[in-house]
Amino acid sequence: MTQTNEGGDVRLAGISKTYGSFTAVHPLDLTVPQGSFFALLGASGCGKTTTLRMIAGLEDPTTGTVRLGDQDVTDLPPYKRPVNTVFQSYALFPHLDVTENIAFGLRRRGIKSVKKQVGDMLDLVQLGDFAHRKPHQLSGGQQQRVAVARALINHPKVLLLDEPLGALDLKLRRQMQLELKRIQTEVGITFVHVTHDQEEAMTMADTVAVMNGGRVEQLGAPAELYENPDTTFVANFLGTSNLIEAEVAEAGSDITVLASGAELRLPADRCSAATTTGGKLLVGVRPEKIALVHADDAAEIGAGRNRITGRIADSSFIGVSTQFVIDSPVCPHLEVYVQNVERDSRLTPGAEVVLHWNPRHSFGLGADQAVDAGKADASSEEAA
Ligand code: ATP
Repeated sequence: MTQTNEGGDVRLAGISKTYGSFTAVHPLDLTVPQGSFFALLGASGCGKTTTLRMIAGLEDPTTGTVRLGDQDVTDLPPYKRPVNTVFQSYALFPHLDVTENIAFGLRRRGIKSVKKQVGDMLDLVQLGDFAHRKPHQLSGGQQQRVAVARALINHPKVLLLDEPLGALDLKLRRQMQLELKRIQTEVGITFVHVTHDQEEAMTMADTVAVMNGGRVEQLGAPAELYENPDTTFVANFLGTSNLIEAEVAEAGSDITVLASGAELRLPADRCSAATTTGGKLLVGVRPEKIALVHADDAAEIGAGRNRITGRIADSSFIGVSTQFVIDSPVCPHLEVYVQNVERDSRLTPGAEVVLHWNPRHSFGLGADQAVDAGKADASSEEAA
């Protein structure tokens, strides 16, 4: 049921929002291509909902313009914009059944024969068997699917989703993420999705904009952001990163750094900061890229790998993997995730270990940033 969706790209030019002396969104230029699934991701208060509300027309921008396709909609009220919004609270009409909730937009426009279109929508959200139930007889996930169908039946050019899965428990959230992605692919409409959940953004979106302090800190495909973060905020906010303070010993297509005596290498093309000999750098490496061996087996480690010695401070078995925290003179609290294939019973707290990884799996960031920016327990994003 692909719909024609000409002009479904969203163009924000210099859009900003201030409340008194507080700037919630700094001037922002952003283009969301037609037919894409776009996520605005960030911690509470970063300005993502305000940005979404400016697209919907629910908030007047202080500066800038909003265009949908070729149309400048900046001065149009919400109901005249070709967009619909799905909120966290489903806001279904409690006295109407699923069919009538979905048909609401058509009936309001005076359309009498709604059966075919409602039927198509029921098929799309896979609720055909629930057509005559009232909202209170549905699960949270089913109610949210009704809310999506109710919005899509109006054929918006853009569907805005404001934390639509926020009220669901984790398992249902995961199911609905896949479901929403399927629906978006099927209808081909531009989706702009606001979430604070990095896994949710990465699972669903083609492009993610990571927001921090009212600005887009980095924008890209999920894997690109994860593998090549530009800042410590993005490195920490999307998953977990080990960030090791180091000094550049030799710059070239491969960079050699020294970190408390350990020599590490990383590729220059994965460095977002200038590298000059003697300059400082943060070497990043994701926990799942690191292998761990007991110090007695260090001779087995292949040549050419980055290696660091340390001691296991903590380990948590979480089924699919074991998560270790390693204290090393090179860096305190290094995190290492080891897939649960063959467990080495010697790898318990107190054990001396060697961490090693392929130098290509390291990335480099400028050392002039807070190392813990973007961590769940860091307040730096609020202050930024
Ligand atoms: P959350 O996920 O908690 O909704 P968010 O990233 O969506 O966070 P916004 O709702 O966009 O954040 O708010 C951005 C900032 O603007 C916040 O600091 C918020 O307190 C402030 N703000 C939002 N609306 C108003 C308002 N009407 N008056 C004053 N400040 C506001």
